[in-house]
Amino acid sequence: MKNKELAAIFSRIGDALEIKGETGFKVIAYRKASRILEDLTEDIETVAKEKRLQDIPGIGSGIGQKIEEYLQTGQMKKYTEVLSSIPEGLLKLLEIQSLGAKTIHLAHKELQVKGLEGLKKVIEDGSLAKLYGMGEKKVENIKKGIEIYEKAQERIPIFEAVSLVEDVMEYLRKVPQIGQLSPAGSLRRMRETVGDIDILATGKHGEQIIRYFTRHPGVSRVLAEGKTKGSVLISTDKGERQVDLRIVAESEFGAALQYFTGSKAHNIKLRGMAKDKGLKISEYGVFRGQKKIAGRSEKEVYKALGLPVIPPELREDRGEIELALKNKLPRVVNLSDIKGDLHVHSDHSDGHVSIKELAELAQKMGYEYIAICDHSQAANYAGGLTPGRLLQQIEEIDRLNKTFKNFKILKGSEVDILHDGRLDFGNDILKRLDLVVAAVHRGFKKNVTERILRAMENPYVTVIAHPSGRLISRREGYDVDLEKVLEGAEESGKALELNAYYDRLDLNEFYLKKAREKKIRISIGTDTHYAQGLKMIRFGVGIARRAWLEKRDILNCLSYKDLVNKKF
Ligand SMILES: [Zn+2]
Ligand SMILES: [Zn+2]
Repeated sequence: MKNKELAAIFSRIGDALEIKGETGFKVIAYRKASRILEDLTEDIETVAKEKRLQDIPGIGSGIGQKIEEYLQTGQMKKYTEVLSSIPEGLLKLLEIQSLGAKTIHLAHKELQVKGLEGLKKVIEDGSLAKLYGMGEKKVENIKKGIEIYEKAQERIPIFEAVSLVEDVMEYLRKVPQIGQLSPAGSLRRMRETVGDIDILATGKHGEQIIRYFTRHPGVSRVLAEGKTKGSVLISTDKGERQVDLRIVAESEFGAALQYFTGSKAHNIKLRGMAKDKGLKISEYGVFRGQKKIAGRSEKEVYKALGLPVIPPELREDRGEIELALKNKLPRVVNLSDIKGDLHVHSDHSDGHVSIKELAELAQKMGYEYIAICDHSQAANYAGGLTPGRLLQQIEEIDRLNKTFKNFKILKGSEVDILHDGRLDFGNDILKRLDLVVAAVHRGFKKNVTERILRAMENPYVTVIAHPSGRLISRREGYDVDLEKVLEGAEESGKALELNAYYDRLDLNEFYLKKAREKKIRISIGTDTHYAQGLKMIRFGVGIARRAWLEKRDILNCLSYKDLVNKKF
């Protein structure tokens, strides 16, 4: 159905005309047409085909012609004409909830505002409030609207976005009318940070589902509440986050999910492919002429284009479509392929959970093993272990291992790479460990590349931890030449870490992809200090999938035996 598309277009024309300073019946006619189309239960294409457009109350001949033009050509001259006559910055201002087209016109005409920056300036210097019909209270409202708008432009760490979405989805599952439910957008593609949070659902009585959604206990403000779309701000400990819910028909769910998952680049390419086949693809389905041939599931949608379903994490137009056409998509790693966590801290150093408890939790997750990698003595700020304490820990793990069936605790260490590239423990100690993870924790600007390369020369080192040292929201990372680190890993056969701690995700997908080309093994570890943190492994797996990594690329897809016998 094109009803909603057309409704949005007419509403936009109304806004645009008003920004240009037009008032009166023209603006009203477009707005009215938008509302009528929004409420129309019949498919507008059927109505047009049966020449009944004029029968819809409120649709005059002018609007009717424009609807036909759009249905026949996919374009509307009036729309492109009006939009192109307005500075883009002004159109963008419409996204600020508390700001109407009339005010934008006024600010533009009287104060030469051309976009957000200009608007903020005239708010600050008080000139906007002095305009006819404005006043302090209105301006205060606009200011709040800008704050919310800017917050929504901020990117959210994947960890926070996933927790929020899961909370909202669990809440929505309690509505009896709810059918299918899925997150969409960059969150579903597992990007390390997420723009906006979108959820798609099916279900009878959409408006009831939307109403229930807007009453989620965390909601601090309802931005929109319609029949098929709701938009709210939910307060979290990091501030307010916008979450949007769309209800679509069962027959359109796959098409909508595909469309709203993106990425934009991936979808543009698909659209082009569809066109070449004489098809049209949209959020409503895949169409041949008027006939809908797919839309219920993503599988149907991709199949209509001659493709297998492409995993969401791969949808970035980085060659995945070309490979899918040849049926040569990488078989990316699954969460269930992971046999253990290779970087975990216990309460022997700065972790908060005992080794026994960590092992039990890991076994419950279906793992075969877990590697305890507490800090070494140089990391005294983190309770780093002296050689004596490490030897005690080794004994404790040996003892504990006898109490577990079909599960092993690996004796590991996150050993500091010192200022000259030596390791914080001697080889007499390192050789007693199952897994040595070497890490830079100090001197981020001092010869980091050389130090890492020297650490790779040690025969007992298996993994280089968090190779870039970045923290996504706080810190840029070491002064390190990662190309050289990759070369070093390739030559020495050492593995590089994909640290799955949500704020690290280090290596990032860009370097992981390069590592894959060089056949370097990747070790995924959560670096958790808490029990719940073990679950962060999925962010690691998500990023690994984005980098096209397969089972064979990943150290912790190996069995316990192959891992400790270094059969890789
Ligand atoms: Zn570390
Ligand atoms: Zn660590």
